Amino acid sequence: MQSLGFTVIPDYRVVHTADEVIERIREIGEMRRSLPFDIDGAVVKVNDFAMRNEIGFTTKVPKWAVAFKYPPEEKETTLNEIEINVGRTGALTPVAVFDPVQLAGTTVSRAILHNQDIISDKDIRVGDRILVRKAGDIIPEVVRSVSHREGSEPYFIPNVCPICGAEALRDEDEAVIRCQNIDCPAQLARSIEHFASRNAMNIEGLGEAIVQQLLDNKFVSNVADLYELDVQTVMQVTGGMKSAENLINSIENSKKASLDRLVFALGIRGIGQRAAKLLCEKFGSMEAIMEALPLEICSIDGFGDIMADSVYNAMQEPHRIKLIERLKNHGVNMTYDSGKVSDELAGKTFVLTGTLPTLTRDQAKKLIEERGGKCSGSVSKKTTYVLAGEEAGSKLTKAQELGVTIISEQEFRGMIGE
Ligand SMILES: [Zn+2]
Repeated sequence: MQSLGFTVIPDYRVVHTADEVIERIREIGEMRRSLPFDIDGAVVKVNDFAMRNEIGFTTKVPKWAVAFKYPPEEKETTLNEIEINVGRTGALTPVAVFDPVQLAGTTVSRAILHNQDIISDKDIRVGDRILVRKAGDIIPEVVRSVSHREGSEPYFIPNVCPICGAEALRDEDEAVIRCQNIDCPAQLARSIEHFASRNAMNIEGLGEAIVQQLLDNKFVSNVADLYELDVQTVMQVTGGMKSAENLINSIENSKKASLDRLVFALGIRGIGQRAAKLLCEKFGSMEAIMEALPLEICSIDGFGDIMADSVYNAMQEPHRIKLIERLKNHGVNMTYDSGKVSDELAGKTFVLTGTLPTLTRDQAKKLIEERGGKCSGSVSKKTTYVLAGEEAGSKLTKAQELGVTIISEQEFRGMIGE
């Protein structure tokens, strides 16, 4: 590869015993900081093609190679400020803002501190020297405070909302501090963004910046107002005719969204996509969900008292009842078509082969088709996934030849959130 002009690591080595492998992994770990690029692990491979063939593959990975992951790299920096973000449910989230550091390949200068308990436990103060890292090499986090600045004081999340100035109180039984103002502009912006998000009503083009401008110009003050927007109005914030038309079209299309998306989009505390779907399967319509008693909701497998009360209480709130009524009058879908669970597998073609651990062919096929996916009898370049079980035959070989992704039942279940 080097002779073809690829960059290869300068120092790969052939070793012969397990002890040498371990020693080499340790050496690479020490070299890590001085390398001109970031690494998160080392790979041990069998250095013989014939032997590789003999050892072979599992359905997912080669058995002749194994990766060793190093613990996340930590860096010291200075905490300049603790910023407060206000979320959709009014939760005040503290965010550490520190001098930029390079971590796992990117520049990092912010990390979520989650809540007061974590800040107090670690005694993190503004001005501290702190140790930061990326958890799982992805999410930046403050590991601990190294030292306090002279004269610094323990940090407490303010008891007023930084956006609207209303009182912010700690929830009973929760570590979260929330702005108590239901008309808080920060909460409103987050709740509209959530409503429009991909897994909710999927309104393309309605991102953070556009939402903020629609609010600032008083074109909308809740999600029902979105359905009264016209191209001329939207043009004033998007700047162009085409983008305004596209946004109006996506808003129009969202009226046909499956009911579980709408239930999720309402942003009821504790009700995620899965719970929204279960509610729809049980009650079949928005009207029935709104009339459901806590005891009935609680009878759903996977629901507890807290979730049931959360749904029940949310559906008693006058502003939410009015909002749903307005959405209904605008033609937003309020009934659940149980035949189709979702469209998450739309455009994807599956081929089933072998014996799956728990699903029959028909059950797997039903799960795929209910989600908008297709099943085919033979593997081709158009196949998205081969779902393979025990004693998979020629279809598996064909998939490997064509480079089609092969998945297990467990991975398939993960894909559809089962
Ligand atoms: Zn507020």
